[in-house]
Amino acid sequence: MPHFADVILPVPLQGLFTYSLPPDLAERARAGSRVVVPFGTKKTQTGLIARLHDRAPEGIDVKSILELVDEEPVVIPSQLSLWQWIADYYLCSIGEVFKAALPGKMKNSPRPTPDLSRPQQRISASVAQDGLTFSQPVDSFATPQGGEASGLMATDTVQPLSSHLPHLSPAQQTALDSIHSEWNQHAVCLLHGVTSSGKTEIYIHLIAEAIRRGEQVLYLLPEIVLTSQLTERLQAVFGQRLGVYHSKFTDVQRAKVWLRQLSSAPYDIIVGVRSSIFLPFRNLGLVIVDEEHEVNFKQQDPAPRYNARNVAILMASRAKARVLLGTATPSLDSYYNARLGKYGLVRLAERYGQVQLPEVEIVDMKELRRKRLVSGPFSPRLLEQMRQALDAHEQVILFQNRRGYAPHIECHVCGWVPRCPHCDVSLTMHSRSGRMTCHYCGFTTEIPARCPNCENPELRQHGFGTERIEEDIHNVFPSARVARMDLDTTRTRAAYEQIIHDFAAGETDILVGTQMVTKGLDFEQVSVVGILSADTMLNQPDFRAYERSFQMMSQVAGRAGRRQRQGHVLLQTMEAQLPLIRHVVAGDYDAMYQEQMTERRQFAYPPFFRLIFVYMKHRRADTVEHLATEFTRRLQGLFGQRVLGPDEPPVARVQSLFIRRAMLKLEPALPLGKVREVLLQTKTELLADKAYSSAQIYFDVDPL
Ligand code: ADP
Ligand code: ZN
Ligand code: ZN
Repeated sequence: MPHFADVILPVPLQGLFTYSLPPDLAERARAGSRVVVPFGTKKTQTGLIARLHDRAPEGIDVKSILELVDEEPVVIPSQLSLWQWIADYYLCSIGEVFKAALPGKMKNSPRPTPDLSRPQQRISASVAQDGLTFSQPVDSFATPQGGEASGLMATDTVQPLSSHLPHLSPAQQTALDSIHSEWNQHAVCLLHGVTSSGKTEIYIHLIAEAIRRGEQVLYLLPEIVLTSQLTERLQAVFGQRLGVYHSKFTDVQRAKVWLRQLSSAPYDIIVGVRSSIFLPFRNLGLVIVDEEHEVNFKQQDPAPRYNARNVAILMASRAKARVLLGTATPSLDSYYNARLGKYGLVRLAERYGQVQLPEVEIVDMKELRRKRLVSGPFSPRLLEQMRQALDAHEQVILFQNRRGYAPHIECHVCGWVPRCPHCDVSLTMHSRSGRMTCHYCGFTTEIPARCPNCENPELRQHGFGTERIEEDIHNVFPSARVARMDLDTTRTRAAYEQIIHDFAAGETDILVGTQMVTKGLDFEQVSVVGILSADTMLNQPDFRAYERSFQMMSQVAGRAGRRQRQGHVLLQTMEAQLPLIRHVVAGDYDAMYQEQMTERRQFAYPPFFRLIFVYMKHRRADTVEHLATEFTRRLQGLFGQRVLGPDEPPVARVQSLFIRRAMLKLEPALPLGKVREVLLQTKTELLADKAYSSAQIYFDVDPL
């Protein structure tokens, strides 16, 4: 019988924590089961047993586990080893991975010392037939209505697989066959299929095949695309076999999906956002990553700052499963891997139903401004096209990558600009609420009636946010029905779904929005798409700005003319001569790729080099400056030219913390083990220094 357990605790400290096992628990404890342990002076924590052993730790007063939460593990060995990999690769603690992985309800400390011998205090949250029982204290899975754990029974009837699979077009069938032959040689295949080519139909065929082989499927989507539009389409084919895992679901719903995956009747398919890589899969056969180029597969904050697409690829390779990455605009990284021969590559160049790709027309805003032919956000050409579409009862999408009313306001007498008191950014004006808001920390304040600096009563607004665009449309087309889709109007899942539903049902004529409107939505009646300002995207201070601009513009253009006839896209820009703009117009991904890769190579950026950012934060500017200089100096001593900085990130103060950043550019052949060790070691040493003890240091590996 084991006497000790190494436990994962949801804290940012490296490593596992050893506890002793009381004799009555030693027999029942398993790796993957949750336990309650004393932690700190008075507190208890719910942790997870990573392993059991007999080696007494030396020189430490080992505390005892207080309680065993699960009679059977809730985490399986493949998950534990994946979490360890994530912690190692993304330079965080396994506790942070544990914290991100488990649905909230499953992480909470249960009631103090429930008496596990009294059956009425427990619910059996699963399948008794095969002896697999997750014993929970009554309240830990209680639903608001009063606590049942349905959805976990093996008796859930699973229909036989429908044979009503969509009939594929010849081009789709060829693509499907090519994917199979690529999979004979590569575990990962990239499907580069233009917008509306019917990639989803191909996925459906692949999923059905996997299910027939008795395998499980993970279908990953970026957060924003996971709408009922898509789930209904999949549910129509796969019914009860499909489980949805979404961050806007409640903890209870997510915990149910988790436990069901452990039962003898798991879902065959999980459709979910990035966190679904943490779910248990016993028999994974296929991973689909749709819109693989999407930035929000990467978690920015807090740790683990993982890329779900990349973790899914690793997960699949461990399970010997196949991976399909699908997109109309591949990330340079994936396309590079395909060209190197690491991934297979399949193209689908035509739209389903022979619909033509949209025609993209450049509108030279610089020229129009010079001739004083435009003052607001709309060019005469765009207005003309919008009018035509509305007259023909067709729909319009307008894309503006700025939310709020005016990105900033200014006193034209003294130059005063309202800024966030906590962050290094100007405040955005929101007219509906009559307030100015910081988009970094959420600080908000009333718009002053006059300049607080010089009393001038007239403050000028600069630029156009989505709110302002919406208002301007009302002025130009008073009878048009307009909806706005941005962070402010989609705080709830219901609000988001409503906007999409109304537009799909033709109850809205014009949809204006931020990058949310560029995502894989499928509307029938859209004939005109307006990109109001390419420049806000192009001018981002990021080496990926052009890649992203190309992706966003091509994706939003792809919303035009998806069913009946060719759509029309108006691309307004001050940089009409830019080659990138021409590539968008020509729909020439390869030209964009070649051009960007030349730059990436020249300046040693991904995919030729691996990046690691070291972020340092502190309340005092001088302290963080010293810390950053010292960190960088130490790294340079070991890694020389590969270390750059420290510099200030584009927003150098957020929530009253000053931020500095050092950058490592590593050649792919360099073994990461040593780098990892040095980074963690340096962090520990510097935080041990009294001068820096209240600083924060963290790493962003493969930043996006
Ligand atoms: P993509 O994901 O490549 O942008 P979709 O899969 O959304 O494209 O397909 C675009 C539209 O064409 C959808 O409305 C879809 O239902 C329809 N479609 C695509 N392929 C087929 C098919 N084989 N049979 C019937 N409809 C199809
Ligand atoms: Zn002023
Ligand atoms: Zn702020």
